Amino acid sequence: MHEFRYVNGKLYCENVSIEALVKEHGTPLYVYSQKTLTHHFQALDGALAPLPHMVCYSVKANSNASVLRCLANLGSGFDVVSEGELRRVSGAGGDPRTCVFAGVGKTVAEIEYAMGQGIFAFTVESEAELERINRVAARQKVKAPVAIRVNPNVDAMTHPKITTGTYSNKFGIPFEEVEAVYARARKLKNVGLRGLHMHIGSQLTEVKPFEQAVRKVAPLVERLVPKYGLDFFSIGGGLGIVYESALASGDPAWWKTDAAKDILTAESFGAALVPLLKPLGLRILVEPGRFISGNAGILVTRVEYVKPIGSKNFIIVDAGMNDLIRPALYGAKHEIVPVVRKSGPEISSDVVGPVCETSDTFCSDRPLPKVGEGDFLAIMSTGAYGFSMTSTYNSRPLPAEVMVNGRLAALVRFRQYLPRIWEAEKLPRWLKFHRLPPTVD
Ligand SMILES: *Cc1c(COP(=O)(O)O)cnc(C)c1O
Repeated sequence: MHEFRYVNGKLYCENVSIEALVKEHGTPLYVYSQKTLTHHFQALDGALAPLPHMVCYSVKANSNASVLRCLANLGSGFDVVSEGELRRVSGAGGDPRTCVFAGVGKTVAEIEYAMGQGIFAFTVESEAELERINRVAARQKVKAPVAIRVNPNVDAMTHPKITTGTYSNKFGIPFEEVEAVYARARKLKNVGLRGLHMHIGSQLTEVKPFEQAVRKVAPLVERLVPKYGLDFFSIGGGLGIVYESALASGDPAWWKTDAAKDILTAESFGAALVPLLKPLGLRILVEPGRFISGNAGILVTRVEYVKPIGSKNFIIVDAGMNDLIRPALYGAKHEIVPVVRKSGPEISSDVVGPVCETSDTFCSDRPLPKVGEGDFLAIMSTGAYGFSMTSTYNSRPLPAEVMVNGRLAALVRFRQYLPRIWEAEKLPRWLKFHRLPPTVD
C-alpha cells in the first residue's frame, strides 16, 4: 500500500502534486510519503501487538533524518550497522537504548561508542567479536548486552545477493554450533547474554521461510532461556514488498486480485508467526527496513533525450545508477510511470541513465508511454536502498529529498553542492608546486 496515485492524470504523493515538487526542487528528486511510512510501521506494530515486542527499523534502508524522526515519534526502535547510523538515530531524536547494533565487522571504536551510548544490544556474528566486545566492556567496567546471531541455514528463496541465512554466506554462527558458543560466552565476565538473533535475508515475499526459520530455532530458544536467562528473540527483518505496483496498470482494484492475495502483509506475517512466538514468553524484536520505507518513496527523473537505435527506444533520463543502484546491483525491477499521463500507444523502451556504464539501466524493453525531452518519470518503490546507496560516481551530486505529509511538503535534504564532492581532496606537495607547461608539438 502506498500514497502515490493519479489525480486527473497527474501523479500525486498524498495531496501534493509531483510536478509542482520537481518544478520547485529539480531532478533527480526522491519524494517520501510520511503517511505511507506511518501506515507500514503501525500495521506491523499492530500485527505483533499480542506479543511483548519492539519494532527496530533498519536504518540502512533509508537513513534520512526525517524518516528516522517520523519513526522515532511512532515509538520505533532502530537496527544500526555502524557508528554513523547510531549517531544519525540520536541526532534525529531516536533513543540509543532502543538500538540493536548488527554487522559482521564492528570495529573497536564502534563498540566503544555504542557501549557508551547504552544501546539495547549488540548482535554478535562471531566468537572473535564476542571476545572483542568483552575486552572493550572490561575497559569501560560495564557488562555489554549481547544477542548471538544464529544462522538457521534455511533458504529464504530470495535473490542470491540478499540471502543471509544459509551456510554459503558470511552471516551469523551455524545453528549446530550456537549452544557451544553460548556456553563459552558465559565465561566472559563483561558480556551479558540477553537474547538470540537471526535474519535470514531480504525481500522475502512469502511468510513461509520466516515460519520455517522460527520453527527450527524455537526449540533452541527454549533450551537457551532457562540456562542463560535470555529475555529477547529477534527474528530480524527481510519482509518483502510489491515492486510491481497497481499504479502502472491504473487499477486500484489490483489489491483485490489473486496476484495480490499471496503478498506478505503485516497481517499475514503476524497471523503466521504470533502463535509460534507467543509460547516462548520472550520479548520479540523485528528489524524491518524495506517493508517500512520501500513503498514510501519514489525517485523522480527528467527525460533528457529519446534515442531510437534499431529496434530499441532508449529514454535517457537525468537519474543514474549513482542515484539508484538497485537495478544495476541486483537486477531489481522498479515500476516506472509518467508524472503526467498522456493518451496514446505504448512503446517498448529502455530507460537508461547518463552514467558511463551499460548497467546504468532502469528497465529494458518495457512498454512505456511515449515521452519526450522535459517530461518527468517516476521510478516507484525506491524508498528503501535508494538514497542510502547513492554515490557520487561520475562526479554527480547526491540527489535532493522531499518529505510529504498531507498537503505539506518540505525539502529534507538539499541537492549536494557540487564542490562538496571533491572538497576533501588535496594535492601532495610535489604535485602542488610542480606544474608542467603544456607540451604542444
Ligand atoms: C539489512 C538488515 C535488516 C533489514 O532488512 P530489510 O530487508 O530491509 O527488512 C534487518 N536486520 C539485519 C541484521 C540486517 O542486516
